[in-house]
Parts: sequence; structure tokens; C-alpha cells
Amino acid sequence: MGNPKFSTRAIWAGEKDSLAFGATQVPVVHSVSFGYDDMDEWYDVAIGKKQGHIYGRNTNPTVQAFEEKIRDLEGAEAATSFSTGMAAISNTLGTLLYPGDRVVSIKDTYGGTNKIFTEFLPKQKIDVELCDTGDHEAIEKEVAKGCKVLYLESPTNPTVKITDIERMAKAGKAVGAIVIVDNTFATPVNQNPLEMGADLVIHSATKFLGGHADALGGSVCGDKELVDAIYHYREINGATLDPMAAYLLLRGMKTLKLRIDKQCENAMAVARYLQTVDIVEDVFYPGLENHPGHDIAKEQMRDFGGMLSFAVKGGVDTLRHLLPKLKYANKAANLGSVETVVGPSRTTSHVECTPEERAAMGIPEGLIRYSAGIEDSEDLIADLEQAFQSLPKDLFVH
Ligand SMILES: *Cc1c(COP(=O)(O)O)cnc(C)c1O
Repeated sequence: MGNPKFSTRAIWAGEKDSLAFGATQVPVVHSVSFGYDDMDEWYDVAIGKKQGHIYGRNTNPTVQAFEEKIRDLEGAEAATSFSTGMAAISNTLGTLLYPGDRVVSIKDTYGGTNKIFTEFLPKQKIDVELCDTGDHEAIEKEVAKGCKVLYLESPTNPTVKITDIERMAKAGKAVGAIVIVDNTFATPVNQNPLEMGADLVIHSATKFLGGHADALGGSVCGDKELVDAIYHYREINGATLDPMAAYLLLRGMKTLKLRIDKQCENAMAVARYLQTVDIVEDVFYPGLENHPGHDIAKEQMRDFGGMLSFAVKGGVDTLRHLLPKLKYANKAANLGSVETVVGPSRTTSHVECTPEERAAMGIPEGLIRYSAGIEDSEDLIADLEQAFQSLPKDLFVH
């Protein structure tokens, strides 16, 4: 028998070690502490000489099953987990960066990540250099000046820009930087950054991994020594994943490949349809041949993902009419769920920016982020069509 493939691992990885009482499903262990009558055994577990659990802030059997599953799917040496994706990001940067250090990243990281770079790290005298996303020469030039961390995300929010991870990891390695990739949008179904030379891969498990918009969580996978240090930071600082959330994420991950394959298919169909609509000015999806990152995406991703965005003529006025008309889409801030989710970028990912700042970042006021669900693509397209047709005819005559 060869090595098991993705869906087999998504089902079985991490499960067996956490079962008890003949149960076939991982139990949700709510117990805050784990008791010992044998003082020597307790001591051995406490100092890590023997496998076991002591206190829920540190480790928990349900949480451990989640960590083992994501570790396996990312092909990593080690993994640890967090209460949210932002906790994974802030704890990782908190572990690695000290006053005087320098970090290089891109302008289009997730909104919360961008806030860490622009608001919190500078207060700690950590130098942050944010390069134009997709400008590989600019990133290489900044990295070559030396940095402790090179932090990437690909594809990005909301215009799904693509960065060449292998090329950037090589640049990072040349100066001894720790290369981190936020893989939330691609998921391990479509891309494994560790195989491309990254040291750490981060997920907001809240999105595609869980896939049902009912649990918050985050993970960091990679080199064991780094992950151990990040785990230590988290166990002391306390951003622990809740066992019930870990259970929901574990359950969601079993269908990860089925969901992602369908979401990629739907995103592609919706993107192609949107290209034919008159009032749609622009469609951003890496699967489209005219997307600036298409060639790199084709090289480094197995499929193009479930996220796209499009800009409508008439800006905010149009989306105010259009979005409420959609029947098969939640108008909400999350993404990656089994239901289609839509939202204006001005309200979701880039709500903190002024219209001028958004324009400078190439985000038109009429940009809509579209997270394709697993519905039938014919229905999603028909839904968009009826919404476009319902727009007041005088909307564009000013
Ligand atoms: C949502 C998101 C995060 C933050 O995750 P939370 O679970 O909401 O804290 C980080 N990175 C990306 C790309 C995201 O989409």
C-alpha cells in the first residue's frame, strides 16, 4: 500500500489517538484538568517525559486531534493551534520578533495582519517594510537588506493577488529569514507552502478548514523547533483553542477536499459568467487567463480556490441595490463556508481605510468579495442574473 492520498488523510489523521470507550468519533473533552493518583506519573507528564495532559490551556485531547490532522494535511513536522486565526498570527510574530528586528511583507495581507504591521509592531520598535503585492523584484530587494521574518499571503484579499512562494522563500532563505505563509485562501487542498520552502504555514481555521462558519480557530504548522517555541508562547499567553471548536473544525475538515473542489468549480463558473455582464467592470479570479497572477497560480496551486471579487459600475449605489437581491448568499463578513457569502470590500476587509486609501490600493468602492459555496453553480449564476436584472434602470443616468 502506498502513502494515503489527501481525502483519506483528511478523514483518518489524528483520530485514532484520541478515541476512548470504543467510540468511533473523537470525543469533546471539556475537562479543564487531568488528574493523577500516581505522583511520579504526574511529574513525568508535567515535564514532558511521558505523553499525557495536565491542564487545558496547554493541551487537550480534542484539540490535539485537530493539530494532528492539520499537521498531516500540510505535510509538516509539527503543528499547534489557537483560539482564532489572528491569535495564530499575533502569537507567531510575538514569538519571533523583538525590538530592533525587521520584517518584510506585502501591502495586501488580511486586514487584521495589516493592523499588526502598521499599528502594533512599530510601537515595539520593530521595523516593518510592506511591499507592493506581486512586485517580486521589490520584495527581493527589501529582503536582501536583511530581515528576521518574511511574511506572505497568497492568494490575498480582496483582489486575489498571487505571490510566487518558492521564489520568495529562496530570497528569504538567502538572508536567514523565517518565511511564513498565510495559506487560509488556498487551503492545503490547493497549495502546501512548506513544500515550496516556507518555514511556517498559518491558517484561519475559521474559514475553509472548518467550512461551516460555526467555529473560530487557527493553526501554525512547520519546523518542530519553531512550532515548539510558538506553542510555548501560546500556552503562557493563553490564546488556546476551545475543545468544542476543535471538534467542529475536525468534523469540517473531513469533507475539506469535496468542499474545496466544488467551491473552485463554482468560483470559476461564476467568474466566467461575471465576465459577460455589462455592468461588471472587472472580475478578479486567478483562474482567469487575464488575471495578473494566473501563470504563477497555475504553477504553484492545484486549483484556483473559492474566492473571487468583482467591481460593478455605479459603485456603492449599485451594490446597495444588488446585494440584498441575492437569495443564495449570506451578506456577511466571513468566507470559506458551504454557503456562498458576499460582502463589499469597503464594509468587510478594508473597512478601516478611507475611500482614497482604498483607491490607492486598487480597491474600487463597488468591489464585491464573493466566497463561492457548494451550491449548484447554475443556481448561483441564475441568482446573480436576477439580481442584475432587478437593478433600477435609472441607476446609471446621472
Ligand atoms: C479571516 C482571516 C484571518 C484571521 O482569522 P480569524 O479566525 O478571523 O482570526 C487571517 N488571515 C486570513 C487570510 C483570513 O481570511
